[in-house]
Amino acid sequence: RDDGLADFAFAMQGLGTGALSLFGTPEQQEWLSRTRAGKAISAFALSEPRSGSDVANTEMTATRDGDSFVLTGEKTWISNGGIADLYVVFARTGEAPGAKGLSAFLVPGDAKGLGIAERLEVIAPHPLARLSFERVRLPATALIGRPGDGFRIAMSVLDVFRSTVGAAALGFARRALDESIKRVAERKLFGAPMAELQMVQGHIADMALDVDAAALLVYRAAWTK
Ligand SMILES: Cc1cc2nc3c(=O)[nH]c(=O)nc-3n(C[C@H](O)[C@H](O)[C@H](O)COP(=O)(O)OP(=O)(O)OC[C@H]3O[C@@H](n4cnc5c(N)ncnc54)[C@H](O)[C@@H]3O)c2cc1C
Repeated sequence: RDDGLADFAFAMQGLGTGALSLFGTPEQQEWLSRTRAGKAISAFALSEPRSGSDVANTEMTATRDGDSFVLTGEKTWISNGGIADLYVVFARTGEAPGAKGLSAFLVPGDAKGLGIAERLEVIAPHPLARLSFERVRLPATALIGRPGDGFRIAMSVLDVFRSTVGAAALGFARRALDESIKRVAERKLFGAPMAELQMVQGHIADMALDVDAAALLVYRAAWTK
C-alpha cells in the first residue's frame, strides 16, 4: 500500500532464498541469517529469453565435470540481477527430457563467468537484468536438493510467492481506490464535487467491486496454500 519498492525488497529476499529455506543443506542455509539481517541480497534466476511460463523448456545447461558443475547459458528478467550476493539458478542437468531434467544451484554473485549482459529499464524503480553464464564452475555442494528436482523446487517456491505478489498488487489497488475517492471529493466540477456526478460514482463503485473481488481471490490463494 505504501511503497512498491519496500514490498519488492521484502518479496525478493524471500523469493531468492525460498529454495534454500525449503530444500537447502545446513551449509547452504547459512546464507539465511545474512539475508534476514539485510546483509546479503538474493535473487531467483529461472526465466530465459525463450523460457518464461514454459519452465520445462529451460535451455541453460549444467554439465558435470568431476566434482564440479559447469553452467552455461542466459537468464533474463532477473530481479536484483547484477546487485545480488547470491542467486538460485535453474539449469538443465539432463536426467530426463523436459521438466524432469532440471536442477537448482546456489551461485554466489561474484562467481567467475557470471556477468550482466544487459540492464533492463522499467518504469518502477526495480533492478532487473539479463545475465550471462559463461562456463561458471560450481562445486558439487552448490546443488540444491537432488539432480532432476529443479522444476519441483522452482514450483514449490513460486507457490508461496504467487499469493504474496497478489497481496502486494491488492495493496496498490486499495491505495489507488482511496486516492481516487479523496480526489473526487475535493475536485469541484460544474459547481459541485466530482463525486456528485453519477458516472463518477459508477466508476468508483466498479473499482471498489474489483478491489473486493481481488481481495477475496488473494485470501483464497493464501488459504489454499
Ligand atoms: C518486473 C518483472 C520481474 C521479474 N523478475 C523475475 C525474477 O526475479 N526471476 C525470474 O526468473 N523471472 C522474473 N521475471 C520473469 C517472469 O517470471 C516472466 O515474465 C514470466 O514467467 C512470463 O514469461 P514470459 O515473459 O517469457 O512470457 P511468456 O511465457 O512467453 O508468455 C507470453 C504470453 O503467453 C501467455 N501464456 C503463457 N502460458 C500460457 C498458457 N498455458 N495458455 C495461454 N496463454 C499462455 C502469457 O500470459 C503471455 O501473454 C520477471 C518479470 C517481470 C516483468
